[in-house]
Amino acid sequence: MTARLIDGAVIAAAVRAEVKAAVAAFGAAHGAAPGLAVVLVGDDPASQVYVRSKEKDAIETGMRSHTIRLGADTPEADVIAHVRALSADDAIDGVLVQLPLPKHIDEARVLAALDPAKDVDGLTEQSAGRLMLGKPGLRPCTPAGCVLMAKTVEPDLSGARCVVVGRSILVGKPAALLFLQENCTVSIAHSRTRDLPDLCREADLLVAAIGRPEMIRGDWVRPGAIVIDVGINRVPAPDKGEGKTKIVGDVAFAEAMEVARAVTPVPGGVGLMTRACLLQNTVKAACARRGWNNPAGAA
Ligand code: NDP
Repeated sequence: MTARLIDGAVIAAAVRAEVKAAVAAFGAAHGAAPGLAVVLVGDDPASQVYVRSKEKDAIETGMRSHTIRLGADTPEADVIAHVRALSADDAIDGVLVQLPLPKHIDEARVLAALDPAKDVDGLTEQSAGRLMLGKPGLRPCTPAGCVLMAKTVEPDLSGARCVVVGRSILVGKPAALLFLQENCTVSIAHSRTRDLPDLCREADLLVAAIGRPEMIRGDWVRPGAIVIDVGINRVPAPDKGEGKTKIVGDVAFAEAMEVARAVTPVPGGVGLMTRACLLQNTVKAACARRGWNNPAGAA
């Protein structure tokens, strides 16, 4: 059996098209487009790439995009002052602080300065609390993307046994809560979990958010399962030439494709959905703040 590919490019394009239509409708109805601000501190190459893609996505969908680039040695107080100013700026609907921040800056203190109404990354205590309580709110983009992808295969996930491997605040925990909200029966696995392959084999829906290249093998996957691979791992690729690298997920993709019903690729999977869900959250935040109807239908 060869599984179906859950194509992040196609699903993300559909989300972007929805967002673009919503932004155009706002322009016509209110004379204003949602505004997304990104704060980037330091010169981490991966973060630079991510921020450039986010700017490009925002502009392509017709939003206003505003990036504040700060040097790696910017004092924490200055970063917090920027976040406070963006939180207070009425023209800005969403604020994203690109993580990780340089080591001398406490991420929690920076996030605490962010207006939860503009928390388009869903990382403030208020957003996390609302998710825990099952109240409407801004959800973290990566796990929200995982749910959208799984639902393209199985629109009703009710009753599915879901195993999330990873319990980070950014991915694992919110993914588990979001799949619980979809009425899955959820187990959360981590580095202390016993008999992890056996647990994974119980999953109708297996979500890998570990950060270990191809750790989940084909024989850990239940035949017919849906596999969502969040991992982004850079590994050597000697076949491409000396010193070359490539990106792989946390799942042994080719092996999983032999057993599963559907699998997300890496690259081309969850990463693209993370970007699309950020746009969706920005529309959602703009609507909630300004009392607009949300034609993009972001729940
Ligand atoms: P973290 O390092 O914060 O968390 C990793 C989790 O995996 C931890 O809960 C850890 O358990 C668990 N873990 C580590 N080793 C094992 C093991 N041997 N067996 C079982 N569990 C294990 O990573 P993130 O959650 O931030 O990211 C996970 C992956 O997703 C990374 O590859 C990251 O690059 C990628 N990512 C991708 C995004 C995208 O847009 N596609 C966005 C964000 C992240 P414990 O808690 O016990 O230590």
